[in-house]
Amino acid sequence: MRNRRAALAAVAGAASLALTLTACGQNSEGGSEENKGDAKGGTIGIAMPTKSSERWISDGNNVVKDLQAKGYKTKLVYGEDEPDQQVSQIENLITQGVKALIIAAIDNKSLNNVLQQAKDAGIPVISYDRLILGTENVDYYASFDNEKVGKLQADYIVDKLGLKDGKGPFNIELFAGSNDDNNTKYFFNGAMSVLKPYIDDKKLVVQSGQTALNQVTTLRWDGATAQRRMDDILTKSYKTKKVDAVLSPYDGISIGILSALKSDNYGSASKPLPVITGQDAEVASVKSIKAGQQTMTVYKDLRKLAQVATDMVDALLNDKKPETNDTKTYDNGSKVVPAYLLQPVSVDRTNYKQVLVDGGYYTENDLK
Ligand code: BGC
Repeated sequence: MRNRRAALAAVAGAASLALTLTACGQNSEGGSEENKGDAKGGTIGIAMPTKSSERWISDGNNVVKDLQAKGYKTKLVYGEDEPDQQVSQIENLITQGVKALIIAAIDNKSLNNVLQQAKDAGIPVISYDRLILGTENVDYYASFDNEKVGKLQADYIVDKLGLKDGKGPFNIELFAGSNDDNNTKYFFNGAMSVLKPYIDDKKLVVQSGQTALNQVTTLRWDGATAQRRMDDILTKSYKTKKVDAVLSPYDGISIGILSALKSDNYGSASKPLPVITGQDAEVASVKSIKAGQQTMTVYKDLRKLAQVATDMVDALLNDKKPETNDTKTYDNGSKVVPAYLLQPVSVDRTNYKQVLVDGGYYTENDLK
């Protein structure tokens, strides 16, 4: 009975989502995409950071779909990577009387005031993928093992270069994500826990000398910013040398780095492309991996993340305790936020079919 109801709700939800998307198809400048699903559970507000990256579009769609299947209405907003815009969007959601909030923050420290308003209105908050810092008013955190993401990227570089077999020295350059995203330091520290011993032993050499996190961040994860930094590094530090590996935290950044490398003739027979990591298994990057350009990515199954976050909401609104599997790691400065962390997976040319296509994440056609 329950399943049948859920299935019916899902069908109704899918139909209403289709209608909504038709009506709101061009609604990318921060307007809200609202569905008219079964209202018995009330409306849940979802604040996503940007539509400029494929992953957050999938996140928004997945969360809406799962909430509809559970009998909720949804209001989905995108902040276009502008922290102030996200704050006012969340204020609006609170004013509109949402029953719970699912938030992937743009700037993890900018939400204190607005989350106090949520608290005062009795609205529970799920921090989605990125931890919100400096406020007690975050109830649960749904994410991946973020340190492991960085470790998988670094392990891949170590294996591919044969560092464990004593090969080297090799030249490497390091990139990190946006400095206002709490995940950035977890990714970077995870990667550096693997790479640093080789850097200390001079088996990996960072010719630019830029090894500290604050020297290698990329504001708003912007690919063009990363491209400019890579251009600059190649000009200044690699006139007569060759870069063998680039630690890149995210596919959009990897694509920017690749453009800089290609402009400098990397990818030719005499100058092979370096090992380049990534994250999110975005379509452009999986295609690039298939074509032998980007080397790997870290896949995070966003369908599972949406499931975890929406289960948390559903539990909270039904006076149940959400499931967690980590109650120690994610201290946001005001409290340790109980979390459910999913496992990321390393993907390259050898296993993308098995993981992404057989796993139903993409069709082979999507990747052509
Ligand atoms: C997410 C990554 C994503 C990055 C850029 C991070 O917070 O965890 O999956 O690549 O933001 O959007």
